[in-house]
Amino acid sequence: MAAVSAVHLAADAFLVCLNHALSTEKEEVMGLLIGEQDAAARLLHVRSVIILRRSDKRKDRVEISPEQLSAASSEAERLAAACGRPLRVLGWYHSHPHITVWPSHVDVRTQAMYQLLDRGFVGLIFSCFIEDKSTRTGRVLFTCFQSAQAAKGQDFERVEVPVHVVPRDAIGRPCLESAVELPRILCQEEQDAYRRIHALPHLDPLARIHNGSVFTKNLCSQMAAVSGPLLQWLEERLLQNQRSAAALAREKEQLLRELRELDAATL
Ligand code: ZN
Repeated sequence: MAAVSAVHLAADAFLVCLNHALSTEKEEVMGLLIGEQDAAARLLHVRSVIILRRSDKRKDRVEISPEQLSAASSEAERLAAACGRPLRVLGWYHSHPHITVWPSHVDVRTQAMYQLLDRGFVGLIFSCFIEDKSTRTGRVLFTCFQSAQAAKGQDFERVEVPVHVVPRDAIGRPCLESAVELPRILCQEEQDAYRRIHALPHLDPLARIHNGSVFTKNLCSQMAAVSGPLLQWLEERLLQNQRSAAALAREKEQLLRELRELDAATL
């Protein structure tokens, strides 16, 4: 039996994960899940995420360093104090661009290692950039898992944990912060990679010009894939907020009018 019976993933946190997972189809991306634990019901409520910066952009490798984990715990404490809720790190997520949603052997083993530190730790995987053959459109699949000792042998196996996306009528402050942080982190990763290559002594001028162009091109693709949609999302949100503010103002006006009429009638 898994230590966790189900995961409730807030829709705004889900959107941030999705935005992150769709930011690149070349490598896997990852982050940490922040939220509250209902120990009695063995239920996890994911309220926000922390996007992690990759120090090593290998195609199929995602690793969380102890420094990142400890920084994330402090960040969760800061968020907990800011919103007055017992928030903490509940698990991790990573993307599987162009491949199946199911965790690899390495994922299951990594997950088992995290569970040694925290039995309730969960893993979320987003599979993206896979084309649905019948509709010719891209689809995103996601799954949540824990690891358990396999029945035979020393190895571990995947245990599926049901995950439900819980609707929210607003974007929470921590989620908004993470969403806005994403373009900055991606830009830093590109800059780091560019600086590393640029520092190589043996490059000829042509190679340097080429590398500079690749750097600029990558930043432009990020703008198109992440910053653009994020800005559009926020603009739509603003429009929606302005509409509901106007509707509330009209309702307030109406109620005040009724109150005045009532006052006049009782006098
Ligand atoms: Zn994986």
